[in-house]
Amino acid sequence: MAGLPTTARVVIIGGGVVGTSSLYHLCKAGWTDCVLLEKNELTSGSTWHAAGNVPTFSSSWSLMNMQRYSTELYRGLAEAVDYPMNYHVTGSLRLAHTEERMQEFQRAKGMGRYQGMDIDVVGIEEIKRRYPFIETHELKGALYDPSDGDIDPAQLTQALAKGARDMGAKIIRFCPVTGVRRENDEWIVETPQGEIRCEIVVNAAGYRAAEVGRMFGREVPMMVMSHQYILFEEIPELAAWSKEQGRKLPLLRDVDTSYYLRQEKTGMNLGPYERNCRAHWATHNDPMPEDFSFQLFPDDLDRLEHYLADAVARVPILGTAGLSKVINGPIPYAPDGNPLIGPMPGVPNAFEACVFTFGIAQGGGAGKVLAEWVTQGQTEWDMWSCDPRRFTSFASAPDYCVAKGMEIYGNEYAIQFPRHAWPEGRNRKLSPLHERIKALGGRFDAYNGWERATWYARPGDDTSEEATLTFRRDGPWQHRVREECLAVRDAAGILDLPGFSRFNLEGPGAAEWLALQVTGLVPKPGRIGLVYFSDDKGRIVTEMSVVRHGEDLMTLITAAVAQWHDFEWLKSRMPADAAFTLTDRTEEYSTQILAGPNSRKILADICDADLALPWLTHQETSIAGRWAKLVRVSFAGELGWEIHTKVADTVTVFDAVWTAGQKHGLKPFGMYALDSLRLEKGYRAWKGDLSTDYTILQGGLERFVKWDKPEFRGKAALLNEKQQGVKKRFVTLVVENPGDCDAPYMSTLWHDGRIVGETTSGGWGHRVDKSIALGMLRADLAEPGAAVEVEIFGDRFKAVVQTDEPLWDPKNERLRA
Ligand SMILES: Cc1cc2nc3c(=O)[nH]c(=O)nc-3n(C[C@H](O)[C@H](O)[C@H](O)COP(=O)(O)OP(=O)(O)OC[C@H]3O[C@@H](n4cnc5c(N)ncnc54)[C@H](O)[C@@H]3O)c2cc1C
Repeated sequence: MAGLPTTARVVIIGGGVVGTSSLYHLCKAGWTDCVLLEKNELTSGSTWHAAGNVPTFSSSWSLMNMQRYSTELYRGLAEAVDYPMNYHVTGSLRLAHTEERMQEFQRAKGMGRYQGMDIDVVGIEEIKRRYPFIETHELKGALYDPSDGDIDPAQLTQALAKGARDMGAKIIRFCPVTGVRRENDEWIVETPQGEIRCEIVVNAAGYRAAEVGRMFGREVPMMVMSHQYILFEEIPELAAWSKEQGRKLPLLRDVDTSYYLRQEKTGMNLGPYERNCRAHWATHNDPMPEDFSFQLFPDDLDRLEHYLADAVARVPILGTAGLSKVINGPIPYAPDGNPLIGPMPGVPNAFEACVFTFGIAQGGGAGKVLAEWVTQGQTEWDMWSCDPRRFTSFASAPDYCVAKGMEIYGNEYAIQFPRHAWPEGRNRKLSPLHERIKALGGRFDAYNGWERATWYARPGDDTSEEATLTFRRDGPWQHRVREECLAVRDAAGILDLPGFSRFNLEGPGAAEWLALQVTGLVPKPGRIGLVYFSDDKGRIVTEMSVVRHGEDLMTLITAAVAQWHDFEWLKSRMPADAAFTLTDRTEEYSTQILAGPNSRKILADICDADLALPWLTHQETSIAGRWAKLVRVSFAGELGWEIHTKVADTVTVFDAVWTAGQKHGLKPFGMYALDSLRLEKGYRAWKGDLSTDYTILQGGLERFVKWDKPEFRGKAALLNEKQQGVKKRFVTLVVENPGDCDAPYMSTLWHDGRIVGETTSGGWGHRVDKSIALGMLRADLAEPGAAVEVEIFGDRFKAVVQTDEPLWDPKNERLRA
């Protein structure tokens, strides 16, 4: 066994597939002075007993990217590192029982093809041809993924470890990390074998990541489920078929019933995600054992019965086989089921690559992403879906993690519908107005834990969960959302926006420093302005509103979900000796949006503010005796103000506005209406339209770039891009004769039989009565009037590029009224 080195550049804690892949990719990036510490033997956590399925399917663009990369890596890995392993690329059939499932498959096919994969949606005959033992009752069709398959997880891990060792990295086994401490801006990693001083630490401790996180003072949002699969003895018919064909059956996933069935040698492997699932180590009287290496939970066959019966009906030869073994092991879950890869929130020079539920499928890509975070501080693909900062502190509460983890596990294969609000883990953060909004008919969803109204139902409206299980636009909410939008257009609307993230930046030099961080101008005192943050490659990191109160006193406002990400982006770039400070004030204030032509009259009735002050100004006033800040902006694209108050004053101020508004036609409106209204203005949304997948110039944000500023982050890259020519551009498209659905994120755009771009968001604009898509299009096609096609759930529709101004109120006259 190699001795423990005393120093290293990076220490990785955990030797499962993810830790070793991270090590391998760090070495590939030239960082070979890295050490991996594993408390037991490599693979002894979840990796050794994983079934080893390697799908590429995902309804998320970034997860699909990561999984696709894994399959490409694994295909060449044995040869690249000279370590033979079993990797069977068998292809897979993912079965559909419903039309909605077929729609999901069509969308995945569109994304998969865009990523260069040969994914297809097939009918019953093709299913039977590819899988001769199948019964096709209740089926509508299937998704065929030729690059799906299975790999031996232990061999994969050993291959990655060998590759890393060959490049110079060290792996120390039977060396548990027992603590960490910070000394002179370095980490000291403590183990029974001694200490390692290093620059950077990575938590890759799998289902033990919470334990390791606590060493850093970090509560990792996660829980542990038990997950089982059953192995069957040889099935003679299958053995004969396989011998004759010289190959294995494709992997079968009956996602609507919730299991996979895979050929394992000459038998089979059945793995369900049971609805009646079980959390482990979730209560004080069931603590995680000190060591669970290479151990399993007892079999729990009762939970499997239903799935076994279903699988036997689907593939009857399974009924002839004896059961040989049950594997029931620990599998970690984050509250949204995605892993954590990226900077460890609030901790310097520390990263996470943990809490993987599909670590075999994602491990390859995860290693690449982690290595990019460590070596470059940024990633090639936008990886917000896995960024640990997407969860804030509320999400680490154990009861929340358990509720969400069980919900996701039991619905692992569920279709993600755009209007479906998952019911577990709710009511974590309530606006002081919550009861009033509920009484007005508000239907809710959680935004960074904050319950916000999505739409307002009337008595008799269908508010069932079932009604939201659709991709169609015309759900029961649609005519109410329309009424809300039209009220905002014709009279006035009010939207309660709890949890709008806000940071105060104040002190000598604050404005000068901020000017270096943003591409454009910091607004003058008394004004509010939108600013964009670019990374060194010119890509869009984030957008914030700056309310400038004084020379060096500002409030920076950003999306609720961006709270930790944006705070850290700012904080980590502040000079150590800065004379100014940054403080998170999100919990102290609340915001209500008042929008519509009558909003001035309403405010005039209840405050003495100067309501003639122009668009993009702000002022303090008093409403019902309470302090309020009126900010004249409107994401809804009408005359309007944001009303910022102390949280304690929210109800009093709302009541005053509500009462005064009654004679002016004031109506409440929700997040769905706001989304429709902002689409008509071409306003970008966080992590759809605004992401590091695009540069500031591609994003159509050049008007927010002040080229003659001496310096700002990203300037060199953006100047270079401008000189070379921008390759794709942000456009607003109107879909002609659309079908029943609007374009979801990452629908492909076509021209002359080729993919020429993608949508970044889409929806119905009620003021213009059109289906709108925002997206990125090849630059030569991004001309007003140009016609392309947009593929929405498999069907193509004509979409026309609009002029570079908002569809609604193109000259912003209503905003400035
Ligand atoms: C029954 C079952 C079937 C599965 N099938 C699949 C599948 O088909 N496809 C798929 O993609 N995924 C599957 N999974 C999930 C998969 O096993 C995990 O996602 C994956 O193994 C996670 O890898 P990891 O490296 O993150 O964690 P782990 O493999 O758990 O590795 C973490 C390592 O960290 C070590 N460690 C912990 N604490 C310390 C410490 N303090 N100091 C040093 N080392 C420490 C542990 O000993 C462990 O070796 C399955 C899971 C189960 C339970």
